[in-house]
Amino acid sequence: MIMYKAFQQHLQNQLDAISSDGLMKTERIITSPQSAAITLSNGSTVLNFCANNYLGLSDNPQIKAAAVQAIERYGYGMSSVRFICGTTDLHKALEATIAGYFGTEDTILYAACFDANGGVFEPLLTEEDAIISDTLNHASIIDGVRLCKAQRYKYNNADMVDLETQLTAASKARFRLIVTDGVFSMDGNTCPLDKILSLSEKYNAMIMVDESHSAGVVGRTGGGVTEHYNAKGQVEIITGTLGKAFGGAIGGFTTGKKEIIEVLRQKSRPYLFSNSIPPMVAAAGIEAFNLLSHSNELQEKLHHNTERFVSAMLTAGFNIKPTTSAICAVMLFDAKLSAKFAELLLSRGIYVRSFSFPVVPRDQARIRVQLSAAHSTEHILHAISAFIEVGKFLKVI
Ligand SMILES: *Cc1c(COP(=O)(O)O)cnc(C)c1O
Repeated sequence: MIMYKAFQQHLQNQLDAISSDGLMKTERIITSPQSAAITLSNGSTVLNFCANNYLGLSDNPQIKAAAVQAIERYGYGMSSVRFICGTTDLHKALEATIAGYFGTEDTILYAACFDANGGVFEPLLTEEDAIISDTLNHASIIDGVRLCKAQRYKYNNADMVDLETQLTAASKARFRLIVTDGVFSMDGNTCPLDKILSLSEKYNAMIMVDESHSAGVVGRTGGGVTEHYNAKGQVEIITGTLGKAFGGAIGGFTTGKKEIIEVLRQKSRPYLFSNSIPPMVAAAGIEAFNLLSHSNELQEKLHHNTERFVSAMLTAGFNIKPTTSAICAVMLFDAKLSAKFAELLLSRGIYVRSFSFPVVPRDQARIRVQLSAAHSTEHILHAISAFIEVGKFLKVI
């Protein structure tokens, strides 16, 4: 208790510094289901343009019904990890469904993609091997790589010249694994998977793609970057989340070559030592993939909404990062300006977040807009006119 006094002061100093840098993250409280229009705790209704609810499935009636039915039949939780007594027929069915969706051989579920990425490298690679990772890869990939003894190489975001340099530097390693996000979450660009595939052949390397932001979104049927680049079945490992396009609850997975998945079932620590996802989540996940297998309507609506928003914003004179996903980064560069912009948009009924250092580089502050199939044409037009109004008021355009 005496030591805590000093530690408390130490923590308070950090919090004060975060606050005075304008980097304090706060939570905004929502009192409605996640949807295109949401209610905030102050009673206001706003249009949500910052959810990962790309296909609008977070409050989908069929998915909700599947979850309710599963809770009635299987109860609430499994009270076990998978290999002791935490596997139901629903878990196996979801694994098979995910493999079918991505055109892969087998799938292993995790509590989240953070765990999938945290548990994928260490069981598969050792100090004799090399991981070659994009610098803008998700935090969970960075942490997963840290837990593994393999040699580490980094290449600049989507920079194929640099990737080639790193592959050359890693040429002595026994096995090489190139690791990339499918869609980079702050910019909205896709990884150049076609070029990565050619380099993997030239330099004899394997590939892992994290499809968290791309699955359900990119590609004609939402099959992710492997579909977009016509490369289904050609990468060894795919990781992804059920927490974004596919209903947005919780759950992650690794899908790919069957021997890889089998070794993960034997050795991956977040799988061996963490609880099984609840049956209701597995049932809802199966329903989400089933819905998507019947039609491309949601993907088409999402692509249409994204194109409409991006082209209107470019015409209005905004600086937008080139996007191939449902993420649209509106560049404002200055952190305070960006925060002010988001605040004024909220007062006009548009909920978006400003992103600044350390989430993006200094002087690269931006508002990240995420489009959804749940948005109607009126929602998109409302967002565009609010951006233009605030942009003019703040002299950005
Ligand atoms: C969101 C995200 C994750 C984490 O997924 P969770 O299931 O929420 O843990 C991992 N990787 C990428 C690229 C992501 O965008």
